[in-house]
Amino acid sequence: MNIHDQALRQRHADWLQTWLGAQPARERWKSAQVTLFVNGALGYQTALNLADLGFQRVRVLPIQASDRAIWQRASGLSSSRPNLAIANNTWNVNEMTLAPSDLLVVAAERPFPELLEAINQASHRSAKPWTQLLAWGNELTLGPTVLPGQSACYACYQTRRYANESRVDVWQARETLFRNDPDAILQGRLQPLTNLAAAYLTSEVARFLGGAPAPIAIGHEVVWDGLYQTYRRSLIVPFEHCPVCRAAQPALFSDSLEQMLDRIQLSQARGAA
Ligand SMILES: [Zn+2]
Repeated sequence: MNIHDQALRQRHADWLQTWLGAQPARERWKSAQVTLFVNGALGYQTALNLADLGFQRVRVLPIQASDRAIWQRASGLSSSRPNLAIANNTWNVNEMTLAPSDLLVVAAERPFPELLEAINQASHRSAKPWTQLLAWGNELTLGPTVLPGQSACYACYQTRRYANESRVDVWQARETLFRNDPDAILQGRLQPLTNLAAAYLTSEVARFLGGAPAPIAIGHEVVWDGLYQTYRRSLIVPFEHCPVCRAAQPALFSDSLEQMLDRIQLSQARGAA
């Protein structure tokens, strides 16, 4: 395991400890509340997976009007899964709606730039972690899972992605399309890949709230290509001038290598004790 993974795992372990407080670890599943922003078949399948895992409450917020229609037709699901709470309205991001959540999750079949930016900002204002999976055609992109103030955020990710992209104009054109057309979707979709994507996202949520094994996308972008069977996991280095997480937590950037190593040694000593 490299030093970045060690450091991020330690920060996650610290978060879990704060979140649990005096609560015994085995009670984790029972007490966790997840808020899930859903789009398309991926959102639907992920909601069922999370409800079946047994979290205390899975709040489902449809992203598009068409998603609200899907969930209105499926309202009977709440009787068989009492922990599934389906909102009547489409998404609304503010501290009030997010207050009861331990983790925010986005499951979408196209990018929703405004939603993702709003969640990223609210996540930092209220110190709530969040994660996302985007299933775009045959490409499944998990993360970054964001621990506010402790790992790179979505705005850092956007900055880094543009900096590493040789055809920035293509990305910008795609971004503009999705900002201007809230109903734009990609028609082609393979059901087995949707199920795979929902399983990957469910696994990340379970790992994040369960603690072991460790989540794989904190501060990382993880990309699977479902047709070509490739896998790529890339570190996202926090952007030092990020307007979102830099403002939220200056300590993130003042962490020296020495401090990081001290913490890792301390955690190894704890583990050995
Ligand atoms: Zn950031």
